[in-house]
Amino acid sequence: MTTPATHANDTAAFDPGSFEGDHAVYKTLLESTNAIPWKIDWRSMRFGYIGPQIEPLLGWAQDSWMTVEDWATRIHPEDRERAVNFCVSQSQAGVDHEVDYRALTPDGSYVWIRDVVHVVRDDNGEVDCLVGFMFDISERKQAEEELLRLQRELERLSLTDGLTGLSNRRKFDQQLELEWKESRRSGKPLSLIVMDIDYFKQFNDLYGHIAGDECLKAIGGMLKGFARRPRDVAARFGGEEFVLLLPDTDQDEARKLAEECTRAIAGLDIAHEDSQAGCRVTASFGIGTTVAAWTDPRAFLEIVDQQLYAAKRNGRNRIAAEIA
Ligand code: GH3
Ligand code: MG
Ligand code: MG
Repeated sequence: MTTPATHANDTAAFDPGSFEGDHAVYKTLLESTNAIPWKIDWRSMRFGYIGPQIEPLLGWAQDSWMTVEDWATRIHPEDRERAVNFCVSQSQAGVDHEVDYRALTPDGSYVWIRDVVHVVRDDNGEVDCLVGFMFDISERKQAEEELLRLQRELERLSLTDGLTGLSNRRKFDQQLELEWKESRRSGKPLSLIVMDIDYFKQFNDLYGHIAGDECLKAIGGMLKGFARRPRDVAARFGGEEFVLLLPDTDQDEARKLAEECTRAIAGLDIAHEDSQAGCRVTASFGIGTTVAAWTDPRAFLEIVDQQLYAAKRNGRNRIAAEIA
């Protein structure tokens, strides 16, 4: 029977424990990673070590990292207090932690860093030193920021009408719900103007769909100018129907705005030879004002819609208002 030959030297070479104390090996390993290793003595608050990779990454010489102060002053002012306070409190509590911040470079630019910190205790359980790695997370942060930007853009697009650039029905519904509650809370009037273009089917039939779209854009652009205060909402409700949601606006003010709208549409002077309400594009309006007299926003919208149809029935190119 043959037994594998054992050579004392070979086994020793495969004993991971034999690396213990081999500082040169550890140093080579630490300094060949992309992460930057460091050590801080807790009592003196001085760097005991920082990897040479710090220089190509941040531009500051390895030997310029002397104290915790050198680290703290090279953190972006907006991140400094948060990062330093967090690291100090976690270290005091003896808890391993990680923190993201922007680190300053000599040319005044910043690099996103994630510092992963391990708290080392002595035999008495006291904090002895902190060791950790700095990771360059710039690319990850850029990707995160781009994702956030895209999310915001998507959110904006999901609330915008593609043709006119006005708020869409979804946004209007959201705001109506919010402003309805706000009006109930404050007791201030909330007005709603619903506007529908007259004989628009005939406009499309006569001038074509593209001209119809241009007409909707012109009227949408005009209406945008009527949402004058930050909480006012001008929206395309659908098709050739638009709405103006006007918080803190009473019935008289709403009526004046609708009259102004009528004049503004006349001012656009869009020819409509097949309209039975004149030879230009006109619109009909329904108005409602509430101090929460109706049971819910849907009922309110319904009442205003009924006014719009009254304006249509009564000959179009006119305004009908609900009696509050
Ligand atoms: P009324 O005076 O009673 O409001 O009649 P109307 O013809 O304006 O109303 P109707 O509801 O019969 O027709 C609306 C028309 O609006 C029909 C539809 O093709 C047109 N329309 C809806 N959305 C668009 C759009 O995005 N672009 C264009 N060009 N036309 C649209
Ligand atoms: Mg119409
Ligand atoms: Mg309509």
